[in-house]
Amino acid sequence: MAINTDQVLVSHSEIEQMLERLSSELNRDYGDEPLIVVGILTGAFIFTADLVRRLEMPVIVDFMQVSSYVGEFSTGELKIKKDMSYDIKGMNVLIVEDIVDTGRTLALLKDLLLKRQPKSLKICTAFDKPSRRVIDLVPDYNGITVPDEFIVGYGLDLDGKYRDFDDIRIVRKE
Ligand code: 5GP
Ligand code: MG
Repeated sequence: MAINTDQVLVSHSEIEQMLERLSSELNRDYGDEPLIVVGILTGAFIFTADLVRRLEMPVIVDFMQVSSYVGEFSTGELKIKKDMSYDIKGMNVLIVEDIVDTGRTLALLKDLLLKRQPKSLKICTAFDKPSRRVIDLVPDYNGITVPDEFIVGYGLDLDGKYRDFDDIRIVRKE
């Protein structure tokens, strides 16, 4: 089976426009309050790098690597592969994600980070696929809403590949 990634869903210039809009919303909402930005590895590494360079407040950049799985007797559990390095107690925290799909990962991550008593905790995602949601989770900042297709590029992968594309493409298996 061959993988075809010819179909561009979101162009690089649309991504640049999205970054401009999101960063001006964030700059407006946080003003000069310090912010801890938590990029979710690996998919959000490019989005995080692009976003923080457009932010005007003092920023600490950190990363977490997590995944969610649905167990036999649970609605979902969070597996932490890499935790953050900074203490978020009393701080404004922004989770930066590549794409929200079912919403499971971010719902579980939000619960976990809220226990650490941040001053505020919000979610910023580059892409949102609301048609696939199984948990009621609405990102505070959303870049571009996408249809129910498997997408790659701009950090998003298929088996580790295609993260380096500077646009978003739809995967077709032929
Ligand atoms: P969920 O919201 O279902 O808990 O999980 C979201 C995660 O699933 C994302 O962070 C991403 O890693 C992965 N994911 C969901 N949809 C896509 C997609 O269309 N393309 C890629 N490459 N990953 C996706
Ligand atoms: Mg991810």
